[in-house]
Amino acid sequence: MIIVIGAGISGLTAAWHLKQKGKKVLVLEASQQAGGLLQTLQQQNLRLELGPNSILADADLLAWLRELGLDADLEHASEVSKSRFIYKNGQIRGLPSNPMDLLKNNFFSLSTKLLLAKEPFRKAEKIENETISAFFLRRFNREVLEYAVKPFVGGIYAGNPDELLLKYTFPSLLQMEAEHGSVIRGLVKSHALTRKTSLNFAKGMQQLPQTIAQTLEVVYNSPVTRISGQQGAWCVHTPTQEYTAETLILAAPAKQIAEILPKSELADVASILKRITYAQMHVVHTSFEKTAFSALPKGFGVLHPANEGLFSSGTIWTSAVFPKSSAPAQWLFTSFVGGMQQAEYGHLSAPEVKKRVLAELTHHYKAKLEPVYQHHTFWPEAIPQYTAVMNDVENAVNLLTSKGLLVCANWHGGPSVSDCIKKGKLLAEKL
Ligand SMILES: Cc1cc2nc3c(=O)[nH]c(=O)nc-3n(C[C@H](O)[C@H](O)[C@H](O)COP(=O)(O)OP(=O)(O)OC[C@H]3O[C@@H](n4cnc5c(N)ncnc54)[C@H](O)[C@@H]3O)c2cc1C
Repeated sequence: MIIVIGAGISGLTAAWHLKQKGKKVLVLEASQQAGGLLQTLQQQNLRLELGPNSILADADLLAWLRELGLDADLEHASEVSKSRFIYKNGQIRGLPSNPMDLLKNNFFSLSTKLLLAKEPFRKAEKIENETISAFFLRRFNREVLEYAVKPFVGGIYAGNPDELLLKYTFPSLLQMEAEHGSVIRGLVKSHALTRKTSLNFAKGMQQLPQTIAQTLEVVYNSPVTRISGQQGAWCVHTPTQEYTAETLILAAPAKQIAEILPKSELADVASILKRITYAQMHVVHTSFEKTAFSALPKGFGVLHPANEGLFSSGTIWTSAVFPKSSAPAQWLFTSFVGGMQQAEYGHLSAPEVKKRVLAELTHHYKAKLEPVYQHHTFWPEAIPQYTAVMNDVENAVNLLTSKGLLVCANWHGGPSVSDCIKKGKLLAEKL
């Protein structure tokens, strides 16, 4: 038997594919529900995504969602949400969507535009363990780093590009430099800017893990407290029961895995996993009557570069992206506060975070009425950071794998929902 520890999207996907291959699989989940960070709350005629707001799907992923029977419930992001915005010099400004637009548009200064035009002729270099910031300062300049890269990295990884390694976060950029000698040339040739489809589901993001979990044997309220035994005969301990399995799939957060690994032989692995930093994140949902605004924003949302001094790191215009996430007369914003670029906000109380987000929204969108509803969520361990520690994590994962303890989790090989789904499938294929 194979036991999967953790019923987040990583563990569930791996378990689903293994079951399809005819393997006997059991999933043990600490909480009372499936999904981990994918959590949806239906409240006040609103569909609130407490964790991820959407999933970026390619053709393979879409085919799998159809196989799961979710076809009729897929909600594609609206056409208008293809427009993205960045806050710059006190204004919400449209972000050019491709390198040619970048040159025509006045988002960047003339000197930066000249530099962008010259980038294809810059010498390619290979630098070991380069951070995202170092890479963009080497090939571009500080304006590109501060106004495009930092907010974008904050939006995806809740991370600080001064710390994140390029090879683990954007390996395709390294590949572009190696293969095409330039990022811009690589972007144009690979059509990498053609966006994939952003999706949600009729009952929200949690519908995905719930649908998968229904096809599996999942034991809820069963936190694994300890793993003992040896390769081929692992014993998994929960407060109420013990299970034996030939293979274990570790799909819980790194710190929890570190706590349950056999102490004697895997102490070094545990100490590496404990060194993985997680960004903290507040998520605030704010809804208004549409009549509160003389003009409603059109687009995906806006990112706030840290050097603009705003409180939130950005806001998704949720009702513009997924109109069914609010009643027709209502408007929903989803704002994010914290992350590694504003780590000092992690400790703030819910009332303070809600108040400051509301003040910012009221000011930016000129709200004439009070909001109808506000909801706050705090994730103390939102997103693992792919910093230099990941070099050690690679070795730790290899050692675990050699013992039949397979890792499928957001702290190795990519944190996005679609990364986790891809890894789950790949792991099952290899077993
Ligand atoms: C606020 C926020 C917004 C995000 N936005 C996006 C987005 O828009 N798009 C995107 O692609 N990604 C987004 N992400 C990232 C993405 O949601 C996660 O990286 C991904 O869902 C992680 O899935 P996972 O299964 O690896 O881990 P988790 O979801 O953390 O699941 C781990 C599971 O293990 C269980 N567990 C823990 N300890 C034990 C134990 N001892 N025994 C048994 N079970 C245990 C937990 O209860 C949990 O269910 C976002 C994340 C956050 C926090």
